[in-house]
Amino acid sequence: MTDPRVNSRISGFYNQNIETRWEKLDEFNLLTPEERNAITGDQGLDTSQADHMIENVIGTLNMPLGLGLNFLVNGRDVLVPMAVEEPSVVAGASFMAKLVRKGGGFWAQTTQPEMIGQMQVLDLESPDQARVKILAERDALLRAVADLDPILRDLGGGPRGLEVRVIEGSPIGDFLVVHLIYDVRDAMGANAVNTACERLAPMIEEISGGRVNLRILSNLADRRVARVQGTVPLEALAFGDFSAEQVRDGIIEAWAFAVADPYRAATHNKGIMNGVDAVVIATGNDWRAIEAGAHAYASRTGRYTSLSTWEEDADGNLVGSLEMPMAVGTVGGATKVHPTARAALKLMQVSSAAELAEVIVSVGLAQNLAALRALATEGIQRGHMNLHARQVAIAAGAKGDKISRLAERLVAENVVRIDRAREILSEWG
Ligand code: NAD
Repeated sequence: MTDPRVNSRISGFYNQNIETRWEKLDEFNLLTPEERNAITGDQGLDTSQADHMIENVIGTLNMPLGLGLNFLVNGRDVLVPMAVEEPSVVAGASFMAKLVRKGGGFWAQTTQPEMIGQMQVLDLESPDQARVKILAERDALLRAVADLDPILRDLGGGPRGLEVRVIEGSPIGDFLVVHLIYDVRDAMGANAVNTACERLAPMIEEISGGRVNLRILSNLADRRVARVQGTVPLEALAFGDFSAEQVRDGIIEAWAFAVADPYRAATHNKGIMNGVDAVVIATGNDWRAIEAGAHAYASRTGRYTSLSTWEEDADGNLVGSLEMPMAVGTVGGATKVHPTARAALKLMQVSSAAELAEVIVSVGLAQNLAALRALATEGIQRGHMNLHARQVAIAAGAKGDKISRLAERLVAENVVRIDRAREILSEWG
């Protein structure tokens, strides 16, 4: 699957025009002309395709698709498509991936692709006794859904386990929740899991004597997590007037803030999700599911905290790690329907949902590092301003060469505002 010619260190990519960037990418020969067109715009999602995806379609919404560079994940060079409207995200991830590359790149792994389906069992005389009865029928229940999805079964997926929890003190009193653990292989899995829960519900009612209300996947996919670790060699951290030790310690201090304070943790994790979501969206995956899983996982101890950790190793290098649920698919949902998402997946050369998840957490960790490094040193605005100024310039009506010229002028004046941008534009005529 991996093309040995792919090199994610494409120097100067940032400064080139889109045509020249594609000339570089075309050298890797990863995409057919149609797939390439699905990214450049001509053959992306059209309204008639969109009309089959959701209801009341009136058009489509385009987003910038950038390429995260320098990513070395488990020893493999990966080009990372990122769909995001926020400036600095792609640049930040690519720059940090370059630093982590100096320390050997990202090392990532995933657990089994096991999702959880929930069935809420109500109207029970004794939830505890019902629990025992359901557990006694565990094997029969699992057998009942083993062949429900023959494709998944033949790929080695399917039901893996059953758990029964008594929920106490809810607004409607105590009830039972049955968890079906289901291996969904390379799918996100919502449909397979929901179908299996619906199939089991009448059996659970019969066994327990209760009534099954909800039958639905849980987005707290805590059995399907992706983990990544990356090291930045100490010497790679120094820049400008900041010593390497200063940058490293500042990053660790910033991380400690997020560990201890939910107000900071929310923003810290948002930074991680800047990278994660961009890849999740580019590959046609369900970013609401990933967001929900991430924040629920960040609260699993009872207090919302950082999803990542940053520490110093024995040699003084900076080591970061990230662990979070990652219920993404390379089949199903929009991944195979959206032509741009399909092309984006192909560009990444991932052969499984696990490999995709490993790349995504690597990007999340890189993005986290980009934000912490900026925050702990010169502040976020300086780097952000140059890109922000371009958006302001475009919003003010600048076109072509004038965009960069106007952005530079706004930054030089330290007034990145649309009224000033308009003024300058009208001076230029
Ligand atoms: P899907 O049903 O479209 O595709 C999955 C199916 O593809 C499997 O069941 C299997 O039959 C088949 N398949 C083929 N090759 C496979 C392989 N290698 N590995 C696994 N399966 C393979 O998609 P899905 O992943 O079940 O559902 C994802 C969609 O469900 C998303 O679009 C999501 O938005 C939506 N959804 C989400 C939620 C939620 O998050 N709570 C709830 C409902 C629906």
